[in-house]
Parts: sequence; structure tokens; C-alpha cells
Amino acid sequence: MTERTWLPVPPLSDFPIENLPFGVARPAHGTPRVVTRLGDHLLDLPAAGIAPDLTARPTLNALMESGRGAEVRARAAEVLTGPERDDAVHAVGDVEVLLPIQVGDYVDFYSSIHHATNLGRIFRPEGEPLPANWRHLPIGYHGRAGTIVVSGTRIARPSGLVPDPIDGVPRLTPTRALDFELEVAFLVGGPTATHIRPDDAGGHVFGVALCNDWSARDIQSFEYQPLGPNLAKSFATTISPWVVTLEALRPYLVAAPTQEPEPDPYLRAAKPWALDLHLEIDRNGATIAETNFSAMYWTFAQQLAHITVNGATTRSGDVFASGTVSGPNPGERGSLIEQIADATADNYLADGEVVTLRGWCGGDGPDRPRIGFGEASGTVYPAVEEV
Ligand code: CA
Repeated sequence: MTERTWLPVPPLSDFPIENLPFGVARPAHGTPRVVTRLGDHLLDLPAAGIAPDLTARPTLNALMESGRGAEVRARAAEVLTGPERDDAVHAVGDVEVLLPIQVGDYVDFYSSIHHATNLGRIFRPEGEPLPANWRHLPIGYHGRAGTIVVSGTRIARPSGLVPDPIDGVPRLTPTRALDFELEVAFLVGGPTATHIRPDDAGGHVFGVALCNDWSARDIQSFEYQPLGPNLAKSFATTISPWVVTLEALRPYLVAAPTQEPEPDPYLRAAKPWALDLHLEIDRNGATIAETNFSAMYWTFAQQLAHITVNGATTRSGDVFASGTVSGPNPGERGSLIEQIADATADNYLADGEVVTLRGWCGGDGPDRPRIGFGEASGTVYPAVEEV
């Protein structure tokens, strides 16, 4: 049953009272502070007197590390359903919405069996599409934490060494194969931890956001062997600004697909850790792909177990992303390279194009409120000129 709030919530909003994601915003003439979002308004948590030691801050990191997220969110819900507090509210259009965290370490996975199979067929047409290790562990690489940017940040076309199509000589050139990757990012909270078991993942994941792992395919195909992508992906990764809590998403956790062969015991889970999350890619105002996150082969709980099984420790603010989310059908492909199946085709992103990711759980029944993520959007700008 939906509680009454004194702020309006438009129909089909991503942000009903059941969501209450965390973010960071800077009001006009104010300093950045922690907020929650309801409809098209923000509750200013320090102005509302809610845990100012954790919320009168320019990032969510202290709140994430404190383990008090659920308590703070519950107090925000009380304020929003209690007496009006106009002194602690901003319209979302009146503030600058900022990158919500100081990012610690960043790992990007490759956990969609459909995406990995599609790419294997493109890069290794004569061989098995999946690498031999793929069904045994969630493959990932360490990405560049410092270039994770918030939705709306302009994306400058990256340059890198690409073999010339005429003479084959690698030359520094703006990419001619700029792509996106539809992904879901998980933000780590709580005290530092290691050897996390999959079924304990809920205590270590503060929240979830949408993620676009921008990728330059021509740079990638020349540089990636044997150590994986580097400049092809490190120039920018866009995330959505609203950190949706695992608590809000809990009704939409579902069983993951059956894994064959059964993974090593450290990767086995008894609880359902897949997420029934509808995802869409918008290119210049048109929806070009739709899929569902529940078909991912490796879950975020298994990914977190994997990156800590060797003794590596977590920090609040670490981010790990799912890998490109693709489904089994052609309309469910989460990157352009899968849609056009050619790393040199001319249908990659041109300057001025806008890519926007959207996603939401539920919204399809009376007891299934829409828990949405807002947008992860970016516009492509021309390459920075060489001096
Ligand atoms: Ca990726």
C-alpha cells in the first residue's frame, strides 16, 4: 500500500515513495549535500535534520561506509509522509545533480552469456564463441575509476593508435568506431571486507545505478591482447546519479539462470541474486534495444565473491559493473558492435549523437511499484584537437 506523501509523484515516475534513492545535489548558492528523490523533487537530508554528520557532505561515501543507509532512508520516508517541510525541498530542475560518490576501485565484468557469445563469434569466427574459462568464473578487468562521470557529462571522442586502413601503419587518430555498452553498476558500502560469500553480498552492496561503458572498438581491437582493454574504455564511463538501494530492489530479486557446469563452491549461492530489471537504450530519441537484466549468467553476488576470494579488500565507494547486458534476441543487444557485427562499419556513434540508458523494476501490478533508475545519458563531442 502506498503511503501518502505531501509532495506530488507523477504517474509512471521512477521515484515513488517505495524507491527513495540517494544522490548528491548542489542547490543554487549552496554546497553539495546528500539528498533523496521523490517524483521530481529532492529532500535535502541535512536541511531536514537527518544524520547531518553523514549527509552534509559532497559524496555518499561516509553514509555508505557507516552502515546507516537503511536508517537514514527510513527517516526520509517519515519526513516525506509527515508534516510538510518546504524548507528542506528542491525541485530537481533547480539544482545541479552531481556524481554521487568518490569512486574507489572499479572492476568491469563480462557476465552476459549472450553478449560474450555474440562478441566471440565476431572476434573468433572459426573457434568456440565462449573462452574456455567463461563458464567457470566471472571474467573481469580493472577499469579507470577516475573517469567515471555522472549522466549529462559530455563525452569527447577519444583518440588512440589504430592501423591505417590503407597502409596498415598504426597512427594516433580519433576513433571511428565509438560504441556504448549497456551495463548495471553496483556500489560497495559497509566496512572494508574480504572473502565475501555470495549469499552475504547484500550486506556489502549499498546500491545500484545504470552504467554506460563507452568503448572505442578500433582502438580496442588493436590494443587488447594480451592484457585486455585500456585506452579503448578508460576515457569515460557514465553512471546515473541516483543510487537505488538494494532494500528498494529486494522485491525484484529473482533466481538466476541455471549454471552448467556448477561453479566452484566459493561461487555458489542459495539466495536469488538475479534482478528483474527492464533496460532500454535510447539513441537520439529512439529506442534501439530493450532487454532484461535477469538473464545475466553471473550475478552481482558472485562477482563480489570472486573479486574478494583472493584476499583483495573492498572499500566503500568501490564500483563493479555487470558487463554489457544482452538478451537472446536481436532486439536485446546492449552494444552497437553486436548490432552491426563489424568493427569497421560506419554506423558507430557520430559527433552530436546522444545515448541514454533507462531502466526500472516493476510498475506492472498493484503490489509491484515502479523502482526506476532515471537516466545515464551522454552526448558525443568532437575529439580534442592535437596541439
Ligand atoms: Ca564493459
